[in-house]
Amino acid sequence: NKGVILKRYVTGFPTEDDMEVVTSGFSLAVPPGNPTAVLVKNLYLSCDPYMRNRMSKHDDDSATYIEDFVPGEVLAGFAVSKVVASGNPDFKEGDLVWGLAGCEEYSLIAHPEYLFKISHPELPLSYYTGVLGMPGLTAYAGFLDVAKPKKGDYVFVSAASGAVGQLVGQLAKISGCYVVGSAGSDEKVNLLKNKFGFDDAFNYKKEHDLKAALKRCFPEGIDIYFESVGGAMLDAVLLNMRKHSRIAVSGLISQYNLEQPEGAPNLFCLVAKRIRMEGFIVGDYFGSYQKFEEEMVGYLKEGKITYVEDIVEGIDKVPEALIGLFSGRNVGKQLVAIARE
Ligand code: NDP
Repeated sequence: NKGVILKRYVTGFPTEDDMEVVTSGFSLAVPPGNPTAVLVKNLYLSCDPYMRNRMSKHDDDSATYIEDFVPGEVLAGFAVSKVVASGNPDFKEGDLVWGLAGCEEYSLIAHPEYLFKISHPELPLSYYTGVLGMPGLTAYAGFLDVAKPKKGDYVFVSAASGAVGQLVGQLAKISGCYVVGSAGSDEKVNLLKNKFGFDDAFNYKKEHDLKAALKRCFPEGIDIYFESVGGAMLDAVLLNMRKHSRIAVSGLISQYNLEQPEGAPNLFCLVAKRIRMEGFIVGDYFGSYQKFEEEMVGYLKEGKITYVEDIVEGIDKVPEALIGLFSGRNVGKQLVAIARE
């Protein structure tokens, strides 16, 4: 069984050398005495920015919400998988599932609290790492429940072409909003405008003045900022927010590899403009998964939502794909195909 282990805790930018693909002996059966365990063959592994947080050692839990990975052990991550053996009455051999597994070819999941049956196998199974999985629920819950859009709102989305951002933009259009996205290449900007239906988009790497770029796109200001990036972008956004606007904080990817995170000098805008800024964690929304899935499957089947994935092949590619999230190498949802069935 090939799997990806963390070699050591990471400080600064992660490198491929922080991880190693190792092979271990494995039995294709659930060991006796495991009445809840499920053995799965992983078909697709998801690469997600939050995994970087788990690669660091946290001495207290003030800046994290999930356990650190353990050096020498296989990384955990979201996957789409097929059940090959089960001691658990809720799962049987052959079931297609998605949820938390390991970055490995086969995973023995002792307590499958975050393992769900796939109810729409007629759609691409890989979608359950993205639009129908954790990132999809993040976009849905963060935009609709936290940001609470109203028709006509001016919406700005950063990291807009990624797993979450491309969906936030499309949900904003469905909600009757005006939406602008930022991304880090012209190829991504083109996707935002011509595939995902954003009203406008810009390449933030080509703008020398982010405040002015936002002013150009939003002469009347921003009602909702769906925040994935932080740092200089957040600070420029604060200056462009309208009175009584909302910022839904999904993530701050520009800060994840910094040993000294940046501040936001313009934070006083929260007070001056009565802005509501609220963070959220998708894990708190798994109870709403079925409602989300039904709605999202409807949008996909009606062609109202489209989804772009960046799929690389083979478990050996996991380290490269994972660190690529932090240089913007991925175009769309990053995942790794491990097996076809
Ligand atoms: P993406 O698919 O968007 O991939 C990450 C992208 O972030 C890269 O492609 C890159 O795009 C951009 N990026 C990387 N480094 C920087 C930087 N220094 N400055 C600006 N942009 C950068 O990832 P996801 O859609 O999966 O995740 C997006 C955000 O949502 C992350 O912050 C993540 O942590 C957060 N998240 C939060 C969840 C929650 O429960 N709160 C759940 C899931 C995700 P580009 O080329 O445009 O720079």
